Amino acid sequence: MKNKLLSIVNLGKVYQSKVDEIEAIHDVSFDLYENDFISIVGPSGCGKSTILSILAGLEKKSTGELVFHKDLSIGYMLQDDSLFFWRSILDNCLIGLEVTGKLTEENKEYVISLLKTYGLYDFKDKYPSSLSGGMRQRVALIRTLAMKPDILLLDEPMSALDSQSRLAISDDIYRIIKQEGKTAIMVTHDISEAISMSDKVIVLSKRPAVIKKIYEINLENKSTPINNRSSKNFSSYYEAIWRDLDVHI
Ligand code: ADP
Ligand code: MG
Repeated sequence: MKNKLLSIVNLGKVYQSKVDEIEAIHDVSFDLYENDFISIVGPSGCGKSTILSILAGLEKKSTGELVFHKDLSIGYMLQDDSLFFWRSILDNCLIGLEVTGKLTEENKEYVISLLKTYGLYDFKDKYPSSLSGGMRQRVALIRTLAMKPDILLLDEPMSALDSQSRLAISDDIYRIIKQEGKTAIMVTHDISEAISMSDKVIVLSKRPAVIKKIYEINLENKSTPINNRSSKNFSSYYEAIWRDLDVHI
């Protein structure tokens, strides 16, 4: 049995502005287990990022409960890689440790080992502008992992990349998260990406987001995200989620 890390219970969020209120999410509940990879899909503007922002503590919830079943640290990787162009790759990866006063020799060694394992060590003294989009996403992931979070929140991590790089980097990101033994929640609007990478896919309605359905993804011969796309039952999940999302063509 996997350990339950976090329960999200009847979570709701209403943004208040001077003129009106916007209800972003309504009564969202799900559990997160250790080593789970959960994807959240839903239409643009429905409230996906809002859920991650609340989990990361960047936004306050309006209603509901977040129950942490143990002491957990959370790492948040944003859509845009947001690397500092004036810092080297190594210095970008160390920034979180620097600003939180955790830049010990040991933590620096850990970052260097991640750069080595994931093919970025030779670029450690280079600057972000000399790296491809996919490599920069890997750097952003290593910068997040440097803080040794228990849970990783990924907000559309591949959306700035062209479709070819998206496939490759989804394999990379998946491999890194699994090898490092992390638990992850990823927001995406790409149904294939969600099915191919996840243990569970949560489908949201349009705003205010409520959970329409939660799918347990049990692909035949499950392997890497790219290979999973040709799994025999991939298309049945795709069609079901596509219908849930009520996409009109
Ligand atoms: P998604 O990530 O699914 O595209 P968001 O969670 O970013 O959606 O936004 C959900 C809704 O909440 C949108 O209508 C958005 O305009 C609104 N919203 C998001 N952040 C704020 C904010 N800080 N203040 C007011 N409204 C916001
Ligand atoms: Mg968003």
